[in-house]
Amino acid sequence: MFNKILIANRGEIALRVIRACREMGIKSVAVHSTADSDAMHVRMADESVCIGPPAGSESYLSIPNLISACEITGAEAIHPGYGFLSENANFVQVIEDHGLKFIGPTAEHIRIMGDKITAKETMRNLGVPCVPGSEGGVETIEEARQIAEDMGYPVIIKATAGGGGRGMKVATSEDDIDVAFSTARSEGKSVFGNPEVYIEKYLTLPRHIEIQVFGDGKGKAVHLGERDCSLQRRHQKVFEEAPSPVIDEATRQRIGKTCAEAVAGINYAGAGTIEFLFENGEFYFIEMNTRLQVEHPVTEAIFGIDLVREQIRVAEGLPLSFAQDDLVINGHAIECRINAEKVPEFRPSPGTVLQYHAPGGLGVRMDSAIYDGYKIPPYYDSLIGKLIVHAADRRTALARLERALSELVIDGIDTTLPLFDALLRQEEVISGDYTILWLEKWLETNPEI
Ligand code: ADP
Repeated sequence: MFNKILIANRGEIALRVIRACREMGIKSVAVHSTADSDAMHVRMADESVCIGPPAGSESYLSIPNLISACEITGAEAIHPGYGFLSENANFVQVIEDHGLKFIGPTAEHIRIMGDKITAKETMRNLGVPCVPGSEGGVETIEEARQIAEDMGYPVIIKATAGGGGRGMKVATSEDDIDVAFSTARSEGKSVFGNPEVYIEKYLTLPRHIEIQVFGDGKGKAVHLGERDCSLQRRHQKVFEEAPSPVIDEATRQRIGKTCAEAVAGINYAGAGTIEFLFENGEFYFIEMNTRLQVEHPVTEAIFGIDLVREQIRVAEGLPLSFAQDDLVINGHAIECRINAEKVPEFRPSPGTVLQYHAPGGLGVRMDSAIYDGYKIPPYYDSLIGKLIVHAADRRTALARLERALSELVIDGIDTTLPLFDALLRQEEVISGDYTILWLEKWLETNPEI
């Protein structure tokens, strides 16, 4: 058993991990930048270490500072949360070189899945269905034009190193292919340090469905059904639910089994998410995230399990605490990502939270690190909280969400809460009938929110 875990993150996810540690009797170490000295994760952890100035590159992303913090405090393992260094294979390597344990998969699995071309090739070989597209990287504009012509427009050009919705460009006809190709390449190079791109058929009416998997690192793995994250803005999720309103049990078991077998086949360890686009009853793999997802609580709600606890157990070398047959869905869960942003422009709105009141009651979970008087620093991601509701069915979950939103108070800053109030009144959201393009289109025609 680990005695002490360091959490290489901040905000709500750092709190999430601290909570799991406390319940397991494990001491927690928070790290923070000078801008986060008063942050809730620092207050809640058993110990804390300042690891640098506000800029993420000099604090939360500084591998030497994080390793020093482990050495100073005697932490034996590091939980990366999501974002920051959570999918950095080099970080995992350095941790292991120092005789510490990374709570997550191996450096090699992170490397494979972090390069989208290699990830796609690996998944295809493991029997996972993929979006039709180029075989590997595309070097020249002539090659890109030829592939797009053979496949038919629209196509999407993606940087193999891309992430967070960046490094992707759609070409609807041969008129845009040159610009799409060179923009994706230059964004890949400038943002991710790698200009290599590949081409995929651009699906026009898909939903985003992702499968949660969990491996023990020794050839056993299970799936925990799907999450539907089709409500997106700029390829970023804003509202997620489990199960999906469009996936039936037979389909769930079929794709879930394919995914569990794929990760078992590579001896994958810990939590992972295999992301698909889903169109006309078919799944198309787009990428695998080798970490805990922001939206993991909806899966926890419907299965009644603690995914962070399970991550820690697997890192300790213990077997999975559930078998596939133990995993039975109970009800429906929905999550709203609340950002410190002013709608409808979604302009970041850092500042001081004058008043915060979290909703409560049956089936309501609020994961947030804000408090009365908390000053949201301008340096980091604008996510300030996640409201998760759980109920017997989707209709009741929507009613519970509306009720919980009516109780939630965040004063002093602008947030994306008005968006959710408005969304809950839309017929498409109520019926669950939308594709990944719906929200953007709706926002264009509803500037009043
Ligand atoms: P990232 O790593 O930046 O999150 P992904 O490959 O996961 O990139 O894609 C993010 C989002 O971009 C998807 O959820 C979807 O909205 C859109 N997208 C990606 N590939 C395609 C495609 N082939 N067709 C249509 N939309 C796509």
